Amino acid sequence: MKYAGLTTRIFVGMLIGIVFGLIMNNIPSGYVKDTLFLDGLLAVVGSGFIRLLMMLIVPVVFFSLACGTASLEDVRTLGRIGSKTVGFYLTTTAIAVTIALILANVISPGAGVDTSKILVSEPKISEQVPLVEVFLNILPQNVFNALSTGNMLQIIVFAIFIGLAVSVAGDKCGMIGKSFSQFNELFLTLTSMIMNLAPYGVFALVTRTFAKMGYSAMMPLAKYIFSVLLGLIIHAFFVYGGMLKVFTRLSILTFIKKVTPIITVIFSTASSLATLPVTLDVVEKRLGVSNRICSFTIPLGATVNMDGTAIMQGVASVFVAQLYGITLTTGAYLTIIVTATLASIGTVGIPGSGLIMLSMVLTSVGLPIEGIAMIMGIDRFLDMCRSVINIMGDVVCTLIIAKSENEFDQKVFDDVTISN
Ligand code: ASP
Repeated sequence: MKYAGLTTRIFVGMLIGIVFGLIMNNIPSGYVKDTLFLDGLLAVVGSGFIRLLMMLIVPVVFFSLACGTASLEDVRTLGRIGSKTVGFYLTTTAIAVTIALILANVISPGAGVDTSKILVSEPKISEQVPLVEVFLNILPQNVFNALSTGNMLQIIVFAIFIGLAVSVAGDKCGMIGKSFSQFNELFLTLTSMIMNLAPYGVFALVTRTFAKMGYSAMMPLAKYIFSVLLGLIIHAFFVYGGMLKVFTRLSILTFIKKVTPIITVIFSTASSLATLPVTLDVVEKRLGVSNRICSFTIPLGATVNMDGTAIMQGVASVFVAQLYGITLTTGAYLTIIVTATLASIGTVGIPGSGLIMLSMVLTSVGLPIEGIAMIMGIDRFLDMCRSVINIMGDVVCTLIIAKSENEFDQKVFDDVTISN
């Protein structure tokens, strides 16, 4: 066990938690079981883990977005192509979250579950705020207040402005830009250190859930997985398929054949960044996109464009709200669309990072991030699936832009001999 990968350990933690929890569920209530164990030891370990994750949110979001924006200098220099790419990425991601929110409301994966017994902290219920205020509230009046209260939207806006300023200032603030990257590294390191505790945290939280709720906790999880997978499929076929047909008129069948190597690598690594070399190679040599376009759009996409992740975050937000019986207002839905889009931008293309950024989406609408524990154990499989969509979004966008810029070689695309 000592050498098993973290994902396996988290999964095992969840499985043991389920079995242990179901056994505990059949043991009659008593001081030792309830007060000492479930609401004592397990509550401390579970909530302790959640608190450590919360500790990371503000610095991770701030530094990763500030660094990401600072490096967007290329986008300005590349002007037209840059704005097309960013426009495409942002639009498709917002569509992805919207699909996720609709599906999660139709399928209702977390509805009707009595979770009052497993709450370890009182959720803050988001109030109905007028739309004008929803937009105005995005701008911080006092950044220290935003940082100390964890107001995610305001922190994001501040981080983006700081990142822009760093890139505009150039050499004059070179040191600051460098130290931001180092802080970014620092918090990523801290994140992976804390994630080593995930198997124990997940074990404690899942045991507690199943001990208190028994088998009734199973169904929501299955429905959650189904909702995310359906969202990914709909997005791939209708949004990407439709765009490919409308904007490029290319054969979807040939496209699928040619991108198979990317799909196999991304599915097994669940990392957009690790797959980057393969993606670049396939897009240039098999799909016929010029290097000038793909060397810009693919790395940028692997860093900021994560529609699959956004779908998971959308479904997960509604799932957690339903689980805890919290009604989301229109303002809350809008906030989820904006924050999930930004969270997917801030998500690093490595396995499981979308789940960490989910805490930012949940926090932005006052949802309890304990809900993440419910889905953490089964996240790896969904991560593999959503990462495929993350990359496909980059590839489709690249093809559309390449065609519109006349940087596309139809002969290479049509040549099936290169597709094997
Ligand atoms: N694993 C995903 C990726 O690399 C990110 C995520 O966790 O959603 O694309």
